[in-house]
Amino acid sequence: MTPGIRPLVAGNWKMNGNTASLVEIATMDAGFTEALQEKIDMLVCVPATLLFQASQMVMNGNLRTGAQDCHAKASGAHTGDISAAMIYDAGGSAVIVGHSERRADHGEASQAVCEKAAAGLGEGLQTIVCIGETEEERKAGKTLDVLKEQLAGSLPDSWEKGELVVAYEPVWAIGTGLTPTADDVAEAHAFMRAELVNRYTEIGNGIRLLYGGSVKPGNARELMAVANVDGALVGGASLKAADLLGIAAAYLDI
Ligand code: PEP
Repeated sequence: MTPGIRPLVAGNWKMNGNTASLVEIATMDAGFTEALQEKIDMLVCVPATLLFQASQMVMNGNLRTGAQDCHAKASGAHTGDISAAMIYDAGGSAVIVGHSERRADHGEASQAVCEKAAAGLGEGLQTIVCIGETEEERKAGKTLDVLKEQLAGSLPDSWEKGELVVAYEPVWAIGTGLTPTADDVAEAHAFMRAELVNRYTEIGNGIRLLYGGSVKPGNARELMAVANVDGALVGGASLKAADLLGIAAAYLDI
């Protein structure tokens, strides 16, 4: 937690889910109780195919929806891509950019991620930029170097709309059931905070820093209580409402 920063619990469905899965969105919306709403924000980033329907389902609630990637341009000849404006039009208020799976599967380097982040922010979206080291980099003692380089390269210099959120997701912890120790997370997040304050001066202290990588109801309390951890980006455990709400519930007694 960071004093003065409202935590965000964000789900990332990745390439999972179909219209039948939307029942989970309805259950999450219903389970995002006033007690939880008082403490945290909640968001689910669904596949683009479900965004419109999911957004319609939560229109009267406080649960928000978002997408998992956007193109850097607003429109044009980019077959298969979606723009930040399209995400907004479909009812989304957030986008994830630079997830390690996109960096690996689509060869997205930090410069491309930075352009996507600028596009998301330019559309007024809450834009979650992911960074994190691989297992190899961690073993070589390069974690903080990687974070420094990815922060420098993936974040725009300035933005006028939207909200920049940074998610620390160690690649080796994603979908593996492995997590760094609370001390390791604390070190990474303190480092990121210092880098952000250095680059953006006073607003650096207000940027939400999420931890992502095998967050589950059973470990959420310990991880979310770490200094400078302002919420979670949750993959596998966000597919089921009971699990995502179980993670959110950690905030009821932190
Ligand atoms: C993710 O993909 O953003 C993620 C954190 O996945 P998981 O929670 O499944 O490790």
